[in-house]
Amino acid sequence: MSADLLAKGLVCETPDDRPGRSRGRGRPRVLLEIQADGALIIAASLTWQGAFEATFVNLAGEFLYGSSKPVAVHDTIDSLILELMSILETIIGDSPFDAHQIARIAIALPGAVDSRNGLVRWIPTLPRGNSPVAAIIQQRLNVPVTIESDLEALARARYWFSDGPMPPSFMLLHIGFGVGAAHYVNDAPRMTTSGISEFGHVKTDFGADARACFCGGKGCVTAYSSMSGILEKVGRWDPRSENMEQLSATFQRVMRMASEGDSATIEIFQEAGRHLGVALANQINANDPGHVIIQTSVQGLAALLEPSFHRALEINAVPVVLERTSFQSEVPPDDWRWKGAAALALEQIYSRE
Ligand SMILES: [Zn+2]
Repeated sequence: MSADLLAKGLVCETPDDRPGRSRGRGRPRVLLEIQADGALIIAASLTWQGAFEATFVNLAGEFLYGSSKPVAVHDTIDSLILELMSILETIIGDSPFDAHQIARIAIALPGAVDSRNGLVRWIPTLPRGNSPVAAIIQQRLNVPVTIESDLEALARARYWFSDGPMPPSFMLLHIGFGVGAAHYVNDAPRMTTSGISEFGHVKTDFGADARACFCGGKGCVTAYSSMSGILEKVGRWDPRSENMEQLSATFQRVMRMASEGDSATIEIFQEAGRHLGVALANQINANDPGHVIIQTSVQGLAALLEPSFHRALEINAVPVVLERTSFQSEVPPDDWRWKGAAALALEQIYSRE
């Protein structure tokens, strides 16, 4: 990754006074030399399978060591965070590294994370709170800690670890058990006032029988277009189930039914595509993202949401904006979690030198 860091201007061989070079947020002002093995960062994340993963990465963004442990079910954000902290301590203790080598820890969490202030405000399935998660972990482990939402981590991973050149601005739309989005604008993540944006709760149905959403509202796009929304509609969603692997396997079976021509199941995927298209059209109209990367957790889902998705886009997006927007769909690589958190930690380290 060090070549990427150089190319993207985080690490400079000379003071960054080349003509035309951006001096925006997060760019270093002085000579930096990568001492890749002198210090390390920990990129951690809570996965949808209910595990807490911690990956040790050197300052050039290279994988050194990784471990993951299952997380118990919790009633509050605070008790969840206490367990995550104790898992982190165990993983650090079991690792071949000394704690004093750790320059920073970055943690990606699902939900509404105020990264700038280090607060977790909401994790779906848990009551809302304002937990100062970064400060709590930082105090206990005596290492700088940054947290962010996993959607932001996904966008960072996509930007920093891309195989080819990335456009400076793009919107990343992710469809998994929830629906979410993150934006990059001019080579930096778009920062909203509190760092929170909830694309999944954009409303796409205002009818009296609009579906209820886990946020407490009705008619949210995630209730129609997420894997859990689709499973609920086909009567295969069990909100009490904690076995996400099993739910994922059930979803694959439902996808197979649609692929094999079951018309009722096809219609459910078309409805999901329609709602996603309406929500995205409104985002495009309002934000002009230029490029949209549509990531689905499972292979083949994007094809099933077509063609209703594109029809809804064409009906609802303003032509002058739509014709300037490019789209691509893909499945994110398995290692995006640590890469996204690592990119956040490295950004923090290099922008503070
Ligand atoms: Zn909602």
